[in-house]
Amino acid sequence: MARPLTVAGIFAHPDDETWSLAGSFALLVPKGIRGAVWTATRGQAGQIAEGSGATRETLPQVREAEERAAMAEVGVERVEFGDFVDGEVEGADLNALTTGVHRFLEREQPDVVVTMEPGGVTTHPDHVAVTAATQAAFGAYVAAAGERAPRFYYWGVPVSGMAGWRQLGRASGYKLPGEDDPYGGFGTPDDQFTCTVDTSAVAEQAWRALCRHRTQADDPWYRLLGHQDNWRAVFTRSQFIRVHPAPRPGDPPETSLVEAFGGSGGLMERSGSPPEDRANG
Ligand SMILES: [Zn+2]
Repeated sequence: MARPLTVAGIFAHPDDETWSLAGSFALLVPKGIRGAVWTATRGQAGQIAEGSGATRETLPQVREAEERAAMAEVGVERVEFGDFVDGEVEGADLNALTTGVHRFLEREQPDVVVTMEPGGVTTHPDHVAVTAATQAAFGAYVAAAGERAPRFYYWGVPVSGMAGWRQLGRASGYKLPGEDDPYGGFGTPDDQFTCTVDTSAVAEQAWRALCRHRTQADDPWYRLLGHQDNWRAVFTRSQFIRVHPAPRPGDPPETSLVEAFGGSGGLMERSGSPPEDRANG
């Protein structure tokens, strides 16, 4: 039997995968699509919320376990980590980072690869470095893919969405990082997005997945989302920019990361079988 279609996320820190892909995974896994995630670091430099039970020494193991639990919440079992250090990815050997990503792609053979947009969404240098490495690794992976045609997307937050979240923050009394910083994350121009996924049906599930990152519970973004039902505003939609194949003018906007592989119901298998076989699942 052919392997199911696979969507892989490549990110820098535990919880990046949940902000970006929890909604899509929650929608796609029940349709037979497989998720896989590679995270460069174990979030060693991250916050430690009171009551999370972690210490600075145990934080890497705790955050690894949190990410596995978050992904289990949306049906993703394949979760791997690189041995890079949180906050030091930018200064790490880019070749080693690219090799780490490329090996993961070769092992998992994803049909769709997702990483953050080149600005790193929050301008975190680790994010920017991981995107650069993923671009290079995807280039090598796609060149060797032969008949298959893997696709590459950036996850990002549109300017309008980021402005909306910040407004929500001010209305709810939470000061969000980067608000007064001219280089703070203010989003990607709305017209660059090519794929908008309606995740409203799984928004609560995505929020539950985020809550698995218990050590991060004191982060202002988490506290904002946990205030009343603000999580709805963030997790009702996920937006992506298709990089490969490059969109052409007039291409209709996509509504799913796997739209190009046909159909939206039943078990979806990787391309190679005729469409009528795929439709039968
Ligand atoms: Zn991050």
